[in-house]
Amino acid sequence: MQIQIDKLVRSRRKTIALIIERDSSLTVRAPMRVSSDAIEAFVHEHAAWILRKQDAIKAVVDIPSRQYVDGETFLFLGSSYDLKLVRPQRPSLNFDSGFYLSYTAQKKGAQVFTRWYKERALDVISARVAEFAKQYGFSPKQVKISSAKTRWGSCSPDGTLNFTWRLVLAPLDVIDYVVVHELAHLRVRNHSQKFWRVVESILPEYKIQRKWLRVHGEKLTL
Ligand SMILES: [Zn+2]
Repeated sequence: MQIQIDKLVRSRRKTIALIIERDSSLTVRAPMRVSSDAIEAFVHEHAAWILRKQDAIKAVVDIPSRQYVDGETFLFLGSSYDLKLVRPQRPSLNFDSGFYLSYTAQKKGAQVFTRWYKERALDVISARVAEFAKQYGFSPKQVKISSAKTRWGSCSPDGTLNFTWRLVLAPLDVIDYVVVHELAHLRVRNHSQKFWRVVESILPEYKIQRKWLRVHGEKLTL
């Protein structure tokens, strides 16, 4: 995925520095004469480090505000659904145009919801990957679901595609964008013009979804 530079500060310094702020935003300090292409390339080279730092901060800042009580709302495929507590049932969480959670599982709400989202994410995302792969001739090795907080997807050198379960909270067209983005990395590993042309040839409007993720990405959580 592409890394967003939240703030760029030019100064008389001689080297580029990356600073992860307390709110996990990325500040880049750069010399006056360094081109924006060179800055982008530097940020891209350090993408794994940046994401790791940002995830670490978000994990600390994330105060669990959920109580898992009647009337709380949860996202699924871009829509918001009410939670209702019900008598003990198996599995303890069911979905039918709304979420139904055994009151006995209330204390384990986060765990139960996370498991449910992971299962749905695997179903939904695998199906989308298979669909685009078939239609556009990609050969991904397999699909894996992660718990990453800022990294929506990634493409391993062996052709395994990884997606965070949080994506299944987003609308399907946003999921499709991340799926196509990672599939496109099977053809072009970097974020060059050539890469974006592959994405655009499949999803001409992909910039809308990419922007949606930047604006709403933080809401895709419990
Ligand atoms: Zn990417």
